[in-house]
Amino acid sequence: MDFFDVVIIGAGPAGLKCAEVLGPSNLKILVLEKNSEIGPKVCAGGLTRKDLEYLELPLDLVDFKDQKIKLHFKKISSFLRDQKDFIYTVDRRNLGQWQFSQLKNFSNIKVQTKAPVSKIEKNFIIVEGKKIGYKFLVGADGSVFLVRKYLGLTSRQTGLAIQYLLPSSKFKELEVFFEPQLFSAWYAWIFPHKNYVSIGCGGNPVFFPVAKMVNNFKIWLKKNKIDVSSAKYEAFVLNSDYQGHQFKNIFLIGDAAGLVSPLTGEGIYSALVSGAEVAKIILSPNYKSKKIKSLIKKKQRHQQLMSFLIKSGRAKSIIFCLGIFLIKVPYFKKRAIKFIFSLAIFFILYYS
Ligand SMILES: Cc1cc2nc3c(=O)[nH]c(=O)nc-3n(C[C@H](O)[C@H](O)[C@H](O)COP(=O)(O)OP(=O)(O)OC[C@H]3O[C@@H](n4cnc5c(N)ncnc54)[C@H](O)[C@@H]3O)c2cc1C
Repeated sequence: MDFFDVVIIGAGPAGLKCAEVLGPSNLKILVLEKNSEIGPKVCAGGLTRKDLEYLELPLDLVDFKDQKIKLHFKKISSFLRDQKDFIYTVDRRNLGQWQFSQLKNFSNIKVQTKAPVSKIEKNFIIVEGKKIGYKFLVGADGSVFLVRKYLGLTSRQTGLAIQYLLPSSKFKELEVFFEPQLFSAWYAWIFPHKNYVSIGCGGNPVFFPVAKMVNNFKIWLKKNKIDVSSAKYEAFVLNSDYQGHQFKNIFLIGDAAGLVSPLTGEGIYSALVSGAEVAKIILSPNYKSKKIKSLIKKKQRHQQLMSFLIKSGRAKSIIFCLGIFLIKVPYFKKRAIKFIFSLAIFFILYYS
């Protein structure tokens, strides 16, 4: 039986970042990816400045960059602006291939594609009928997880996001649309890339049934005169149910750990940070990760805000409307989430 110090299941942003941070050690590391190619993933590829800085991603890999996001609420529009570029899109294939290229100098890291892990046991995993032993196992296998299941954890907060990838360069702005009647507490987006655009929406099927989401999205596309007949349709689940990241010698990172924001659907940054932080824990078992703590705190705030928005019923419209107006004011811009959160509480208290 082959043996590795660390076996990482999944070569998404989380798994690749974890391997990169482990790279300079003398540990023997194996990254297993079920797909034949590293990178492609159902995702709008939206990044913020903090993702870019954290990744140190070269700007030529970016498809789109801007100093503003156009926000819409019904017929009202507003811009969330900064003096510097702060919003970007990247093609997930390019992001994955770039992260993969960062591992090439480490002879102690082996990355294997077409390697679907089918079974996990206490000290070994099984890939294509072959046993591979591990000292540490890292579940970086995304929202359709195997390692998490092995640990006996399910997901109580599974979101869903759908998107059309439309071959078009006519969309020049990154746009977000709040329409509570159609998308409840969530939103629809237009994320431009180099040769295509991602147009999608998301939600939590518990509060917002999938059939309704799909149907409402079609209504919204029609209303906005967006023809998706030549587009590729994709959908994927999002796991926002964090229940821990360390279970003795087994770790969960990224979507597998449930670190996607239940409000915005953003998960790339938390995948990268949790991947790096878990690598540091493996390297120094006494390392206490403040960054994972702050990711969890932020995710909890998003969770609370989402619950408040759902409960706020028709007051949601007023909250979104005020949010869109006040986002123009620099004081509120920096405090957008906290501000909307306070408004939500106010309306719930007022209406209950
Ligand atoms: C429609 C949509 C739009 C999104 N848009 C954004 C966005 O704009 N910005 C943002 O920040 N986030 C976005 N997200 C979320 C983002 O895609 C994820 O949070 C992010 O990809 C998580 O990274 P990860 O490494 O944890 O998991 P993943 O990227 O899912 O990687 C997991 C990897 O594990 C592999 N794998 C799974 N099971 C096995 C197995 N048994 N054996 C071997 N390999 C396995 C998979 O093939 C995959 O490559 C979006 C999600 C969706 C669905």
